Amino acid sequence: MRYISTRGTAPVLGFDEVLLTGLARDGGLYIPETWPVLTGPEIRALSGLPYAEAAFRVMRPFVGAAIAEDDLGALIEDAYAGFGHAAVAPLKQLDGRTWLLELTHGPTLAFKDYAMQVLGRLFDHVLERRGERVTIVGATSGDTGSAAIEACRDRAAIDIFILHPKGQVSEVQRRQMTTVAAENVFNIAIEGSFDDCQDLLKALFNDTAFRDEMNLSAVNSINWARIMGQIAYYMVAGAALGAPDRAVAFAVPTGNFGNVYAAYAAGRMGLPLARLIVGSNRNDILTRCFATGAMTVSEVEPTLSPSMDIQISSNFERLLFDLYDGEGAAVAAAMREFRATGTLALGQARWARALELFDGARLDDEGTLEAIARIFEETGELVDPHTAIGVAAAREKAGSVPDPHAPIVAVATAHPAKFPDAVERATGVRPALPPALADLYEREERLSVLPNDLAQVRDFVRARARPASGRMTGVA
Ligand SMILES: *Cc1c(COP(=O)(O)O)cnc(C)c1O
Repeated sequence: MRYISTRGTAPVLGFDEVLLTGLARDGGLYIPETWPVLTGPEIRALSGLPYAEAAFRVMRPFVGAAIAEDDLGALIEDAYAGFGHAAVAPLKQLDGRTWLLELTHGPTLAFKDYAMQVLGRLFDHVLERRGERVTIVGATSGDTGSAAIEACRDRAAIDIFILHPKGQVSEVQRRQMTTVAAENVFNIAIEGSFDDCQDLLKALFNDTAFRDEMNLSAVNSINWARIMGQIAYYMVAGAALGAPDRAVAFAVPTGNFGNVYAAYAAGRMGLPLARLIVGSNRNDILTRCFATGAMTVSEVEPTLSPSMDIQISSNFERLLFDLYDGEGAAVAAAMREFRATGTLALGQARWARALELFDGARLDDEGTLEAIARIFEETGELVDPHTAIGVAAAREKAGSVPDPHAPIVAVATAHPAKFPDAVERATGVRPALPPALADLYEREERLSVLPNDLAQVRDFVRARARPASGRMTGVA
């Protein structure tokens, strides 16, 4: 399997390079050169398989010859072995037509675990075979940091450093990062804001000498392997609800467009999609884009669903590539215009094509609390603010699903106990952590506090990261 950039001029790469590279050199995102397609019988056969086996069948064609099939199968099995539900990604029926796809059973209780747990193991496997190591650095305002830490902990070829703004992430989120007792995990609380953390991160990557010395890498949401790891649960849910013999709609609470793009990708692989409904909070650039045909940035506003407080949805570029008929130069020009003016007009024909599949719904914080309360009243389910936006979007847009028999699957992206204050405010019930995390508040925390100072952060990383292999062989 070969991968090309959405902007058309970066080198064509194989799976392991795409895994380790992340962003393409021309500023674009990598996508498969040709989409692997599962046949109707192959999709039907996913129904009832153990999750890891089904996920292996979905991911295998994207990896191709880069990793031996037995190794890939074992790695995927291992990735999901520790999940808190035997079905890994169970479906729950909410009403006659709406289902909840629970992606909340991973180690950090959010959907990012489903791809990250595979990603960490893929990194380790590919690096060990090449005799290389990496130092992963990241900045987080919440969920991504803990999912990355859980994915990279105890991996032989990886050291991971995660920056968070001191005192500005929720206690559950901080503890999920700082209570991981692994030698290769380093939490740094920066005396500054999330923007300061991101500026420090950029500066570390822009210091080429340091970047090469440490073999710096990132596991951010534009990495192709994260999309790949997410396609599996759409295929599995679709097959469980009758695909390929009937189409299924999905409603996905969205920030970076990564999770809903994976649903779209499942469609490219052959899953019949009745509709993709994008749920936004007040940061609604995507729902505005589907409503008006133009993507226009505005200020990021903090909401009750912080993992969706994003104004530029980087994975949207992968959809643009298809809307622009695979013309990288046209995508590059559109993205240049967007960067320069803050607006990207899709044009009538492309907008109409997007609307054949996509629709969007937006909820402010008040609507989110109402949705949490209503879902609890009607179904007895406690859902977190992100999930509530997905469920509310599914219900609001049910009428826009062309096939009246198609089930609508709302994606649950976080466990309610990750956002206990909002859930309690809406329902009067404080959600409990699942048993595996029940003692989270008693566990010992490990973190270092550093000032907002590049030299000190750089020295901290240099003193703790194990050297990259090139240097080790140089010494030997
Ligand atoms: C990351 C995240 C999202 C948004 O996912 P995208 O792939 O960025 O669209 C939604 N909900 C939760 C709980 C998240 O952690």
